[in-house]
Amino acid sequence: MEKISSENRHIKTFQYLKRGMASAWLLASFIDTGFVTAKIMDIGIGPELKEAIIPAMAAEIISPFDTTRYKRYPDAPHKQPLPNIPNIPPRPGNLEANRAKAADDDFISDITVNPQIATSPAFTGKWDRIANEVFDYENYDDYIAKELKTATFFGQNLINLNDEMVQSLRKVETDLINSHGSGYKAPIANSTFRKKTGMHGWGMAIDFDVKINPYVLNENAEEQLNIELIGSYDNIAKFILGKEQSDLRKLKSGRSAFGTGSIGDVYDVLREESDAMKRYFSLMNDEAALRSFIKLEWTARHPDQEAPDFAKTKTQIKDDYEVLGGKTDTGAERPSGGKDDRPFAPASICGNGDPATGFLNLGKEFVEAMTNAGFAWGAIDISGEPGDIQHFDLRLQGRGAEIYNLLLKYK
Ligand SMILES: [Zn+2]
Repeated sequence: MEKISSENRHIKTFQYLKRGMASAWLLASFIDTGFVTAKIMDIGIGPELKEAIIPAMAAEIISPFDTTRYKRYPDAPHKQPLPNIPNIPPRPGNLEANRAKAADDDFISDITVNPQIATSPAFTGKWDRIANEVFDYENYDDYIAKELKTATFFGQNLINLNDEMVQSLRKVETDLINSHGSGYKAPIANSTFRKKTGMHGWGMAIDFDVKINPYVLNENAEEQLNIELIGSYDNIAKFILGKEQSDLRKLKSGRSAFGTGSIGDVYDVLREESDAMKRYFSLMNDEAALRSFIKLEWTARHPDQEAPDFAKTKTQIKDDYEVLGGKTDTGAERPSGGKDDRPFAPASICGNGDPATGFLNLGKEFVEAMTNAGFAWGAIDISGEPGDIQHFDLRLQGRGAEIYNLLLKYK
């Protein structure tokens, strides 16, 4: 995307964004180039313009699971393992948008959210009611206008953050600077506030480096796509690591299903599979490397088995690449047969995702600093639909937990 230089151009662009369906795509392009976090946050946009931008941001459905269990740890940092989270089916009617239609690849909401649902009085009432009960504001718009603030995070200007969010991010920054020095490079924050979308709707959620940290699994109720995806993750874990199956299958069981249940243990397992994914797809177009891998490493990891057929393996790798959203020979995404994108090919990043990048590219120290500051990590802590690698929110503590429970409670 070409560089846009003056502030006036920014403002004109955003006025144009008001006009319709192209907005999400355009905004996503800006987000993809770092434009939104790096630039619009500086320009002091007025409330009207804010309104124009916000609806272009995405639907993130909130987990339908009751979080009252977290009340046992009201403000504690979550170094300790959280209780095992059972897989409880969604309670209908609790979500802010139609579950089947709301995709959280984070930027495509106004295309996927049913406008009738979005404007129904009940929908409006729920957000107003929570703004009033938890924060004592007149309504949700009042909350947005008066409560949300701007902050910097490792040199990035972020807008529309709740104060608890500001404090928590400050903790993370201090922690990482203490442990890694003032030159520490944090990942790019792509998205914070998105109106009436889960915890993002309260300025209490943030997504990092979305292109290389996608929503890998369980994004929605579309079971067929999840089944296809897990098959490919299994293939990678089996072929490269010699595992029986992918540990992404365990995400719904929560932190305690991984090692000692620490976030570090969750991270290590996911990172190993993410690195295995990079390795797997690096073999896709390199016949010599694939032959050598089968002969040496594969055989070492599968001592009692006969080596797989070369041609079949090559075809399998290509197939898995397309299942995860990599470009097909025609340059397009393989149709997913539903409303949802494949993890590496969301419309929000213009189909630029590449499974060969792996799915976890946040540093371990970063994820640990975030969770130590009390953030829930979307990869594991958002019960019911874990797998959102890029996402962190404050549903586990303080007012974030109050809000989260009320979002589930009120229709
Ligand atoms: Zn998010």
